[in-house]
Amino acid sequence: MNVNVGFIGLGIMGKPMALNLIKGGYPLRVYGRRVESMAPLAAAGAHACASPEEVARAADMTFIMVSDTQDVEQVILGPKGVLSGAQPGAIVVDMSTISPVATRSLASRLMDHGVEMLDAPVSGGETGAVNGTLSLMVGGKPEVFTRVKPLFERLGKKIVHIGANGAGQAAKACNQIVASMTIEGVAEAFTFARRNGVDPGRVREALLGGFANSRILEVHGQRMLDRDFRPGFKVRLHQKDLRIVMETAHQMGIALPGSALVAQHLNALIGSGDGELDSSALVQVIERLNEGR
Ligand code: NAP
Repeated sequence: MNVNVGFIGLGIMGKPMALNLIKGGYPLRVYGRRVESMAPLAAAGAHACASPEEVARAADMTFIMVSDTQDVEQVILGPKGVLSGAQPGAIVVDMSTISPVATRSLASRLMDHGVEMLDAPVSGGETGAVNGTLSLMVGGKPEVFTRVKPLFERLGKKIVHIGANGAGQAAKACNQIVASMTIEGVAEAFTFARRNGVDPGRVREALLGGFANSRILEVHGQRMLDRDFRPGFKVRLHQKDLRIVMETAHQMGIALPGSALVAQHLNALIGSGDGELDSSALVQVIERLNEGR
């Protein structure tokens, strides 16, 4: 495996993903904004760097897993960023969930310097990151995808090349549209059941055997029944993802009325101080709308 690999962003998702690359036999150069976040990787054999620039200077492929669009922009374009260090022919692989529009622009900025880019956001959460079973949605040139695929196989089980730069982020936005509206749907169904004097647990059980079955009815539905809103996937991050969806829809003139509604309900949870809860807490918003009857 004659490839030098860099990894930037060592949070809930980035740390186990970086560890899986090390386990796969890829020597890693890592950068974490908090120096202490690099310690577990250094203990596993990674070389800790002082900046994204230092990571990219010696890397054929640099993976990024940070929070939001402006964070990826800062890591790539900012002072001591990836762009200052990357050599022509190198590949930048952004696995964060960010704006597809900004991704297309970043890919073009990197290409001006001869640096290739893939967007490869993921679904599957911390468990998928730890177990190497994530679902990856990839945008970029097919030949660049082919070069990075052996490393993707260390991180995920379902790896789909969706299309050109930004296509992976567009697919991830689709994922969040479906996921958030399904959570909202389950929340409404359970509230409707309760108001009709019907046990939502029995409703869930029956629905799991029919057309309304889904992983969200199974997992988030159970969390709603248990009133267990420990994350999981935080309201704050789901709100960020729907903001990306709505901003993109706004920029392009795409009407997404259902997503706009769920985005407002996620805003309501942030406003009531519940941003750190699991997004199954959406059921509380629907319940509040129906209080007092
Ligand atoms: P996280 O635990 O908050 O980790 C984010 C990491 O990025 C942190 O280590 C943070 O550094 C670093 N970072 C943020 N901004 C930075 C900047 N400007 N410069 C340098 N480093 C920066 O979040 P996560 O759950 O790993 O999520 C990462 C990405 O994956 C997000 O885009 C998220 O939407 C996506 N995602 C998450 C999940 C999930 O279930 N958690 C599932 C699918 C996709 P500090 O440690 O210094 O704050």
